[in-house]
Amino acid sequence: MASQRDEIAAWDAADPMRHFRDQFLLRDGLVYLDGNSLGALPKATAERMQTVVSQEWGEGLIDSWMSANWVEAPRRIGDKIARLIGAGPGEVIVADSTSINIFKALTAALSLREGRKVLLTEAGNFPTDGYMMQGLARFKGNGTECRAVAREQLLNALTDEVAVLLLTQVHYKTARMHDLAQLTRRAHEVGALVVWDLSHSTGAIEVDLNAAEADFAVGCGYKFLNGGPGAPAFLFAAHRHHGAHPVLSGWFGHARPFDFEEGFEPAPGIDRFQCGTPTILGMSALESGVDLMLRADMGEVRRKSIALSELLIREMQPLCDEFGFSLASPPESAERGSHVAYAHPQAYAMMQALKARDVIGDFRMPDVMRFGITPLYLGYADIVEAVDRLRAVCANRDWDRAAYRDKAFVT
Ligand SMILES: *Cc1c(COP(=O)(O)O)cnc(C)c1O
Repeated sequence: MASQRDEIAAWDAADPMRHFRDQFLLRDGLVYLDGNSLGALPKATAERMQTVVSQEWGEGLIDSWMSANWVEAPRRIGDKIARLIGAGPGEVIVADSTSINIFKALTAALSLREGRKVLLTEAGNFPTDGYMMQGLARFKGNGTECRAVAREQLLNALTDEVAVLLLTQVHYKTARMHDLAQLTRRAHEVGALVVWDLSHSTGAIEVDLNAAEADFAVGCGYKFLNGGPGAPAFLFAAHRHHGAHPVLSGWFGHARPFDFEEGFEPAPGIDRFQCGTPTILGMSALESGVDLMLRADMGEVRRKSIALSELLIREMQPLCDEFGFSLASPPESAERGSHVAYAHPQAYAMMQALKARDVIGDFRMPDVMRFGITPLYLGYADIVEAVDRLRAVCANRDWDRAAYRDKAFVT
C-alpha cells in the first residue's frame, strides 16, 4: 500500500501540469470531480471580476463599451475558443446559452437545406438538444420531422431526406465519443449538414473542426472552460456558411446596430449570430477561464485526462467486484471523453454519502454516478483518495441513510 502511495506521489511530482492546480480556488481536502458540470473557480477570475465590476462598470460606466473593449468581447473570446477547437479567427462567437445556440445553428443549417424536412439526432442525446429540435419542428411545421435513432443506426438513418444532423460529440452520461470527422463526412455525402454540440469536448479533448470540414458547432462555457455558473456559450459557423440568414435577428447581429435602421440587414461574418447585448460580466469570467485553458497544451491535457481516467478505472475495479459498481463508460480510452461513469443501484444515495466525505461528483438518472476528470486541477493522488473514500462509504454503508435518499432539484 505504502509503495503504491509513493508511486502515485511520484506521478504527481513528475506531472508537467501540476502548477495549474495553484491557479484555482479549491479548499484543502476536497476532491472535486464535477468540473464536467461546473468548472472550479480560477483565482484570476475573482480578481478580474473585481476590476470589471468596480472599475470598468463602476467608474467607466457606459464608456467602457469602447474604452474597455466590451463591444469586442464576443468576437475576441470567440477567437480564443476557436484555438481550442480547430476553428479559424472569425468563425466563433460567444453569445447566449448553449440551448439558444443550438436553435440558432439548427435554423441556420435548415435554411441552407430548403426542401429537406428531417432533423436527425441520437436517442439519449442530452435533453436540451432534443427539446430545442422538437420546438423548432413544431414551429416550422409543414412536415418538418424530428428523428432520434440509436447510435448504431445513425449511419443508416442518414438519408437524402435529412437536412441537419445534431450530435453531441462526448455523451453527457457515458462519455462515449463520436467520430466527428467520419460522421461529418457521411452526412455531407447525403447532402446533410451537421451541428456538433461540444459541451463535453471543449477544453477536455482535442477537437479539429476545420480539419473535419464541420458546418456548425456549439458548446458550454461553464464546464471544462471554467467560465462560471451559467457562463455564456459559443457558436461556430464555418466561413462558407456565413451567408445563412439568422432567425434570431436581434440588433447586435445587424450590420450597423448603432444606425438604428428599421430593416434588418445581417452583419457580415460570424457577428450575425449574435442576438442582443452581450452579457459582459459573464463574458469577463469566461474569458479569464479561457485564458487559463490556453496556457495549457491540449495534447498534454488529453494525455493526462487519459492517465487519470485509467487510474480511476483501475482503482475502481475491486469496488466493482465487491460492491456492485459497473463501468458505464467505454473501457477503451480512445472512445471515452473526460469523465468516467459508473452504474450502481444506490447511485444517488451513494453520491450524497460520498459528498459528505468531501468528494464531489454527480448523479444522472436513473443510476449513474459521474466522475469528471479535469487535468488542470486534479492530481493522481486525488483519484486514489476519492476511491478510498468511496470504499469507506461502501464498507460503512454510509449510503443507507434516509437523509441521502431525498433527491434535490439539481443533481
Ligand atoms: C451541459 C450541456 C448543455 C447545456 O445547455 P445550457 O443551455 O447551457 O443549459 C447542452 N448540451 C449538452 C450536450 C450539455 O452537456
